[in-house]
This record gives sequence, structure tokens and C-alpha cells, in this order.
Amino acid sequence: MPHIVIKDIRKTYDKGRVIANDDIDLEIYDKEYLTLLGPSGCGKTTLLRIIAGLAEPDSGEIYFNGKLLTDIPPEDRDIGMVFQHFEIFPFLDVWDNVAYSGRVNKWKKDKIEDETLKALKMVNLTNRAGDFPEELSDPELQRVGIARALATGSKLLLLDEPLGALDQRYRDEFRHELRKLVNDLGLTAIHVTHDQDEAMMISDRIAVMRKGIIFQVGTPSELYVKPNCIFVANFIGESNFLEGEISEINNSHSIITLRSDGPKVISANTKYKIGQRVVLSIRKELIKIKPIDKGNQYTTEAVIKEITFLGSYLRLNCELANGDFVEVKVTYPTKFPIKVEDKILLKMHPKNLLTFEYPPVLADELALE
Ligand code: ADP
Ligand code: MG
Repeated sequence: MPHIVIKDIRKTYDKGRVIANDDIDLEIYDKEYLTLLGPSGCGKTTLLRIIAGLAEPDSGEIYFNGKLLTDIPPEDRDIGMVFQHFEIFPFLDVWDNVAYSGRVNKWKKDKIEDETLKALKMVNLTNRAGDFPEELSDPELQRVGIARALATGSKLLLLDEPLGALDQRYRDEFRHELRKLVNDLGLTAIHVTHDQDEAMMISDRIAVMRKGIIFQVGTPSELYVKPNCIFVANFIGESNFLEGEISEINNSHSIITLRSDGPKVISANTKYKIGQRVVLSIRKELIKIKPIDKGNQYTTEAVIKEITFLGSYLRLNCELANGDFVEVKVTYPTKFPIKVEDKILLKMHPKNLLTFEYPPVLADELALE
């Protein structure tokens, strides 16, 4: 029943010059699949290693089921770890690799055998028990890595980019397997990745990290529908960002004039002030296109500048009257014929148009690192 509370964890390197974890708070519930998602270098591995007890924080505490981690001896911490580069011993066969931690922990022979066999069954590798790592494919090697973590009998799995070294075509399949395994066995998993699709597919909740800070924690759909900042809106999914100024506010809506005296758009957000500069974001797939004569209050004129065919949908690059570009993803075939240089209408529903305060430096918020 792992329940983990992370409080004010701070970790710096290089005499404090690199802040890997900047006062992190996070709670992980029993049987939850939680993913730490963020660009490379944001501090995910550092946090995972601190949870595992492999690294010491400068300050802060971690509680396992209400007990301070530092008060629990390493052998009683009950954690299985899976790494990106498998870290399988090349000189041991599959069976001995999986049995390894039971032996290190001096379990009884019978228990080691039971746990090893059980773990190999779970990952479908019983028929490869006598093979050596060099005879295995990458996905099989990672199955060994997972079996080895499971054979520790631990209820908590820590996975650091476990699918990162696998070919794209195996990754999808493996995500499902991993998710199912954790569910079926009632485990708790903390999974680290920089791949947002992987995080969206596999997680109950995602903690989005950047520069040592957790920006938002939520279910995949919460992060998609209600990102709490420009960085999260940009990191999860594909969005357009437009600059503008609030020109009118009423009870339920505000009207925003896009920059350079651009078109007016309507947002459902009313918390800003008239004259305030804002950034609007809207997902590419949430913009609808309409023929030029079918306008209403939510439509804005645009000219199609580029059409890219992407199988079941098209990506349109459209120019607004103020010179701003908006990318739109529409299903193919479209409801009415379109071609480059056509004038069309873009329908941006107020509820899909998110409004953020204009940041000190917009480019910094939009950087994916
Ligand atoms: P991530 O796993 O998100 O890519 P890491 O936790 O590995 O990020 O690293 C976070 C930051 O801490 C990076 O700037 C990295 O260079 C630095 N860092 C990590 N480990 C060490 C270390 N052992 N010594 C010095 N700097 C480190
Ligand atoms: Mg890492």
C-alpha cells in the first residue's frame, strides 16, 4: 500500500549553481500510475532517485505510508526500479537476472524460485529463462528489466524512461502492457518520461515539470482541457498562441483585440481588465473551418496559405488580417472544398480559447526546455 508524500524536496548540484529540484511537493496515492513529464534536464531522474533513496536531497522530506524515508532501512523500502538502458547483467541468463535481487537480499531458495517464475510469467518470458541477454531483442530485454523489478516483490515501481530505448513500433504495445501489468498486480508506479503521448496514454495523473519545478498535476484530460499556464498548454498537445489586448468585458465573456489592430475574438474568461495584454491559446484541432459566407460571432476571416495532407486529416496554415498565422487540423475530406489562397472563416469557440496573463518574456514560456 505505498502512499508517498514528497515535501519541499530541494536538490542542487555544482555548489548550488544547478537547481535540479526546486522545493517540490507531490503526493502519490496507492495503486496510482503517476508520470513525471518534462523536457530533458528538468529534474525528473533526480526526483526519482531521491524517492528511491539513491540520492540525498539538500532539504525536504519523503514519507512512505506516513514514515520518513530516511528512517526506513534501504532493504525495507520495497522499491522495484526499471531503467531506460535495461541495465541487465550480460553474464547472467534471464533467470539469474530476474532472481538477482532475491539472492542479494538472501531470501530463501523457494521464495526466490517462486517470485522469479511468477515475474517471468507476468512478462511472458518463461520460455526464455535460459537465454543470455545477447540473444534477446530490445523489447525482450526491457521485459527482463521489468520482471527483475517485479521479482523484488515490491508494490512500488519506479520507471525511468523505460520505453526510451525501444523502437517506436514497440513502444505503443509496451505502454499498454506496462499499464495493464501495474493495474492487474495492484502496483503503484512512478514513471519518468519526456514524451507527452506516452504520459497521456499511460497515466492516471501527470506532474508536468520544468526547470526543477512542478507546474501542474492533473489527469491527462485536465491537463489537456485546463492547462494552468502557457508552458503546459504548449507542452501538452499542439496549440496556437496569439497576442492581444482585452477590449471589452461583460458577465460571461471578454472581447480581445488581437495585436496590431487585428481581428476581435471572444473568450469565456472574464478575470482580466480592459486594456490588459494577454496571450490566447487554442488547440489546432479545436478550431473549425467554415465557408466565408457562413460567419457568426465566433468566426474570424483568414486566408489559407498552406495545406499539408496528413492522412485522415489536413493541417492548414492560415493567415489572419493582422498577419498572424494560425494552424488548424481538420478531418479529411473537408465538408466543403478548399485550396491555397482561399478565404475562409475560422471558428474559435470561446470555451476553447484559453486566456493567460502576458508573461515578462513570451518566448521563454514557449521554449520547450
Ligand atoms: P531529467 O531526468 O529531467 O533529464 P535530471 O534530474 O537528470 O533531469 O537533471 C536535472 C539537472 O541536474 C540537469 O541540469 C543535470 O545536468 C543536473 N544533474 C543531474 N545529476 C547531476 C550530477 N550527478 N551532477 C551534476 N549535475 C547533475
Ligand atoms: Mg532523466
